[in-house]
Amino acid sequence: MSRGTLLFLEDDRDLQSLVSAYLRERGYHVEPVRTAQEALSVLVRVRVDAAIVDGLLPGMTGTDFIQELRRTDPHLPILFASAFWKDLKSHDLLTRQLRVARVLHKPYTPQELFIWVEQVVKLKPRPPPPPPPARVAGAEADDDLAAALAALNAEYGAGLGEKVRRLEEELERARAGDAWALEETYSIAHKLHGTAGSYGFRPVSLAAGRLEALLRTARGKEGAADWGALRAALHELSQEASRAVSPASAHAPEQGAATPAASSEGVGKKFLGTVLVADDDAAWLAEVERMGREQLVSVVTARDADEAVKTARRQWLDGALLNVDLGGQEGGFTTAARLRGEDGLQSLPLAFFGTEGDVAYRMAAVQTGGLLYLPRPFGAQDFTEAVERMVAARRPERSRVLVLDDDPDAVRAISAALASEQVEVVGMGDPYRLVEALTEHRPDLLLLDVEMPGPSGFDLCRVVRAMPEWRELPVLFITAHTGAEFRVAAFQAGADDYLSKPVLREELRARVKSRLERARLTRERAERDALTGLLLRRPFLERLRTRLAEAQRQGKSLALALLDVDRFKQVNDVHGHLAGDRVLMRLGRLLAARFREEDLRCRWGGEEFVVALLGETAASARDILARTAAELTRLDFEGDKGESFKVTFSAGIAVAPQDGTDVEALLHRADERLYRAKANGRNRIES
Ligand code: GH3
Ligand code: MG
Ligand code: MG
Ligand code: MG
Repeated sequence: MSRGTLLFLEDDRDLQSLVSAYLRERGYHVEPVRTAQEALSVLVRVRVDAAIVDGLLPGMTGTDFIQELRRTDPHLPILFASAFWKDLKSHDLLTRQLRVARVLHKPYTPQELFIWVEQVVKLKPRPPPPPPPARVAGAEADDDLAAALAALNAEYGAGLGEKVRRLEEELERARAGDAWALEETYSIAHKLHGTAGSYGFRPVSLAAGRLEALLRTARGKEGAADWGALRAALHELSQEASRAVSPASAHAPEQGAATPAASSEGVGKKFLGTVLVADDDAAWLAEVERMGREQLVSVVTARDADEAVKTARRQWLDGALLNVDLGGQEGGFTTAARLRGEDGLQSLPLAFFGTEGDVAYRMAAVQTGGLLYLPRPFGAQDFTEAVERMVAARRPERSRVLVLDDDPDAVRAISAALASEQVEVVGMGDPYRLVEALTEHRPDLLLLDVEMPGPSGFDLCRVVRAMPEWRELPVLFITAHTGAEFRVAAFQAGADDYLSKPVLREELRARVKSRLERARLTRERAERDALTGLLLRRPFLERLRTRLAEAQRQGKSLALALLDVDRFKQVNDVHGHLAGDRVLMRLGRLLAARFREEDLRCRWGGEEFVVALLGETAASARDILARTAAELTRLDFEGDKGESFKVTFSAGIAVAPQDGTDVEALLHRADERLYRAKANGRNRIES
């Protein structure tokens, strides 16, 4: 039995025979025609189920032909093949005014065309939906999230009745002969099928799936539809829906959805993090521990440097709060350097406290990486603020995920599943706004629905891939279609991953998280110098521009220092190139392990480095760098023949806004001063 008759209007013979053969093999009867006239004459003789129309035809454009066709047949499903990229506006014209079911861009594969043919010509019911996926064992959602999800589920459940009522109305209208009402019925059932499962109402989803399959058969042959079967399927769906909202529900939402309300403990207050507090004074440590309990900060204490290092090796820390004079004058700074010298602690957030409010201490604190300096004794509020700043400094930047689905319920379900402290979700339903949304929200990942009114998710993915800026954006498809041909088409369109609705939340979260993490690592690798681990010139400049603009807005200064190793050519010549490399690596690591998270450090090239210090003046920046210079002088390097040697650097400093407000002017001034430092005998800092 034929799956349907297709009119195939295409003037390219090769393409026509290839695609016709493919479609025939899959059970379709194909009427190939090459001109609009031929097509019209076929339409008089043959009843077709869908038309495939090429955009460029001899003597007449495809759109003109469709306009002509619509006069006699307003409902015939049409697939429009275009050799030119249709921007989203032309998509709009084609789909809304000419009611083209799908726009395909050439070159298309026969497989992809087949997918869309199957979607518009639904003469045979599909095989039953696959069994529900197994639960993910041991996947735990955090309580806040769980409560939010439970609320969303309840809300969705409460709206089910309304959806069923709309289905009943539309189906009645369809039965009375309204072909568009039938389309609407199909669309509602399709969405329910896809989304209800995500909200935990699997029986509803399954019932909607059965109704959807029947409706698919009914589309295109209104008069002959099996209204009895449709009504029965809708009745069944209605029963499942009412059972789902009753409190004594036998169909508890699935795991990750079926979650009890959050416990009342700790409401209004959140656990902040774990910090190491080091001081020689046991009584003061006890006081800080008490503050910690009150403020939901986990405090671990240390009485001296050795204990601090031992503790930091043993457990995860969000930061360390150190007495500047721990175990002796300025002992806190050496302890800080020791902590940051440990593997994995290179950028451990630090804060200091002490009795002295002395300026020199503040510089030392900045150079060591202290985010702030508290006078002792400090109160609970200062303590909490310090912890919050340390936790924020360590937190990786928030990732943004853009979700595009024409079903608002699906957008909400996905958003609720993904949104967290690390992930911000922006949802949208209008495919025509995708390009704007990319520019506006600059997402790190895109989640796309496949079937939407207008451009398909596949086409949108191609649009994204064709934009140089977004070529590498991770794109994941979420769709109710499970067929292998859909998965293939998704990857051919440039997808990174593919998930079928209903989506298991834990799986969605895990997949998105893994993609985001991978993308972050790739970006990081591309932005950093392999030898020193510092930022490369281009990403550094990008960030510096942002920092400068920030500083300007906040009325803060910003100091920029250009560092250059002295007589480095000689180091290479006398001690060997490898020894030279070790010097650069060591200095790079030193720069990385000092300073605050917000201070930028870059390998400018060769033996030159740049450091940008937020909020510092020429004088304070010079003091801070002098400490780094002193640290470098204390290091011993080993040459090729085992000999030991020392190195120094010279630096030039420029400060915004005095020396200029744009990056170029500042670099130029800093370079002039560096040159002066060299001319004045090297191992100097000029500002
Ligand atoms: P000055 O004090 O005036 O800065 O003298 P200098 O010798 O340091 O200056 P110059 O710019 O003439 O020499 C820099 C040298 O650094 C030249 C280059 O071969 C070497 N160099 C650049 N990049 C690397 C690297 O990655 N590894 C090593 N070992 N040497 C490098
Ligand atoms: Mg959709
Ligand atoms: Mg140089
Ligand atoms: Mg040099």
